[in-house]
Amino acid sequence: MKNHFAGCIVKQRRYADQEWRDIRQRVPIAWTACTLRGRRPWFLCAVYANGRYCGRRVAILYAGGDLFACRHCYRLAYASQSESPRDRNLSQAQKIRMRLGGSPSLFDPFPDKPPRMHWRTYERLAARGLAAEGRSLELMRAYLDRPAQSRRRR
Ligand SMILES: [Zn+2]
Repeated sequence: MKNHFAGCIVKQRRYADQEWRDIRQRVPIAWTACTLRGRRPWFLCAVYANGRYCGRRVAILYAGGDLFACRHCYRLAYASQSESPRDRNLSQAQKIRMRLGGSPSLFDPFPDKPPRMHWRTYERLAARGLAAEGRSLELMRAYLDRPAQSRRRR
């Protein structure tokens, strides 16, 4: 059961010596059934990378230049740019959630121990994952809390 909606994301982004401006891109959204809370939305990556349409279902899209793309396409296009600590911690946290059978979204509860996994393994992964989530949320909060003046060049 999959319905596709056309969504729209607007994000302001300041380029080196330019004013803030809006970036608009229609992003398809897919809804999937979810055991606990009905349905949840995913973004579909609508980018052509290496001449092929991506179409991956992802929880997070990254803004690269004027386009929103999934991590995979973003990496292809911006392989030379190093990831920020915020992205690094987020992707580490998401990888661990998915390895534990959960969704990559930090808004979902942390996944329980998978049935076939040893408790020690789970505890190690959970400690590492939760630490990465904490760091990533802290960096995100610090970024969002920055006063407007420091984000906008005078
Ligand atoms: Zn993609």
